[in-house]
Amino acid sequence: MRTSKQREAIRAYMKDRHDHPTADQVYTALREEFPNISLGTVYRNLMQLVERGELLQVDTGDNISRFDCLTNQHAHFRCTHCGRVFDLENPESTHMSFTANAAKVGQVHSFSLYFTGLCLDCLSQSSAADGSASRAETHSNLSIHQ
Ligand SMILES: [Zn+2]
Ligand SMILES: [Zn+2]
Repeated sequence: MRTSKQREAIRAYMKDRHDHPTADQVYTALREEFPNISLGTVYRNLMQLVERGELLQVDTGDNISRFDCLTNQHAHFRCTHCGRVFDLENPESTHMSFTANAAKVGQVHSFSLYFTGLCLDCLSQSSAADGSASRAETHSNLSIHQ
């Protein structure tokens, strides 16, 4: 019964999160409540939730498994500087044409589409560190937000 309590805690932790935590991050958070929990147990529970269709296992090309409570198929953007992973909603048209083409080769079970680059935060930090010209650019971005 302890196992299902842990799984409930993992499910509660993952609910409504959009930062795509790794098994390691879930493990660190869960250890506060379950000091004896092991990383293996956390990973096993996460994979069980993936098999039940309650979580998605996300691949963003860095060999790190991340987990996502958003289970409809969607694409991701990973910032190579800060490591954050963002959801890209509704890549409908690309998704459909890839699926149609893949269906000619075999039966499609899932797809994975990700982009890598610099997020807006990291972009504005790196341009703020440059000369005054890019500082002016950062400034105009700020006024757009206001
Ligand atoms: Zn970033
Ligand atoms: Zn996602």
